[in-house]
Amino acid sequence: MKILLIDDEAFALKLLVHQLASLGFRDVTSVTGGAEALAQIAGGARFDVILSDLQMPGMDGVEFVRALTQTGYGGELVLVSGEDRRILQTVEQLARAHGLRVLGRLTKPVTPERLAAVLAHHTDAVAAQACAASRCYGPDELRQAIAAGELVCHCQPKVSLATGALTGVEILVRWQHPVDGLVFPDRFISVSEEHGLIDDLTRLVLRDALRQTRAWFDASLEMHVAVNVSMENLDTLDFPDFVVAAALEMDVSLSSMVLEVTESRLMMDMRVPLDILTRLRLKYVDLSIDDFGTGHSSLAQLRDLPFNELKIDRSFVHGACRDTHLAAMCEASLDMARKLGMRSVAEGVEDLDDWNFLRDHGCDIAQGYFIARPMPMAALADWLPGWEARRRELGLVKP
Ligand code: C2E
Ligand code: MG
Ligand code: MG
Repeated sequence: MKILLIDDEAFALKLLVHQLASLGFRDVTSVTGGAEALAQIAGGARFDVILSDLQMPGMDGVEFVRALTQTGYGGELVLVSGEDRRILQTVEQLARAHGLRVLGRLTKPVTPERLAAVLAHHTDAVAAQACAASRCYGPDELRQAIAAGELVCHCQPKVSLATGALTGVEILVRWQHPVDGLVFPDRFISVSEEHGLIDDLTRLVLRDALRQTRAWFDASLEMHVAVNVSMENLDTLDFPDFVVAAALEMDVSLSSMVLEVTESRLMMDMRVPLDILTRLRLKYVDLSIDDFGTGHSSLAQLRDLPFNELKIDRSFVHGACRDTHLAAMCEASLDMARKLGMRSVAEGVEDLDDWNFLRDHGCDIAQGYFIARPMPMAALADWLPGWEARRRELGLVKP
């Protein structure tokens, strides 16, 4: 990995070079200002990662980010600063808006652990970029895939933070592509929303989920089953009737169902979604506001729609215990859920620190890699014994 360091303080540069060397990164160039860095790039030097300070005499970090975009730089950026963390965060947003790939931010004084953690994202980012660059799917391909039964449902456990007991699963759709392998929903959900295929997709997922739920119930796995619906599903008035008919056919009670609603675009006319969601609530289907705190999953939504579960977006959850700002937002969401009498679910629980933080702050349910990654629905029964053992290790049940 070829690394470029930019900082006006000689000592900061020396320290970073030393820390990088002890992590095994030896191909490191250091410069004392943005202009010098740009000159190197213009002269044909190629870097994989640039670590840049923000507060520099001459060209500041914001100017550097703007100028860097114009060079066509294709590597990654790490922002380093001793300034207020929110400034650092805003510059990160700005860099992303310019189309730069930001690996992370480092607050001064930089610790070797943080430096290693941020650089470890490099491999993930390269893989993600390869994925994004791989081709997008068109509506015709997707239509065919739906007809050919290539969409498959995976599931991810949701567990009680107080007891560790399995309370439910979220159903997550994947496309078992004959050539490309397993394709994730971020690469085909918006296509299906834009081309009127989301209704077919959701109905297929719902029926598949309910069929599996019946099998789980028969094996004494009584729990909630959550299915994602997008706002586009809520513009046909017969949607509640479809849900009722499917549940009846599979003999699953409506009160075991959760519909997780996300809104990708702002809806102007709320009459139809309001009609649909209220009828579903009257039939005891649980309604969850998904990705709360991002996009249009806002306070206004919460005020207007009859949700009874609040799902805090993972961007407020993971790492909240190490970040006072995230912690404040996460705690406020939990407090609000409690006061509104809603069940709280945290997504993106990735480690024991996340788990402990949420448990200490009274969150009801956790979902995330710490508990389990999404898995094929048939794998849930095999996952459970391992989780029971971890519940004992976590001291959640008496051995
Ligand atoms: P979502 O509903 O917020 O689902 C949670 C996403 O977070 C899933 O991504 C899951 O794999 C991922 N995730 C779970 N635990 C962790 C964790 O600890 N850390 C991190 N970083 N991520 C975690 P996935 O499966 O790629 O789904 C992405 C989105 O696609 C979902 O977000 C949902 O909005 C949408 N989606 C999935 N299935 C369906 C569906 O059947 N219908 C519709 N309309 N949308 C769906
Ligand atoms: Mg969801
Ligand atoms: Mg979510």
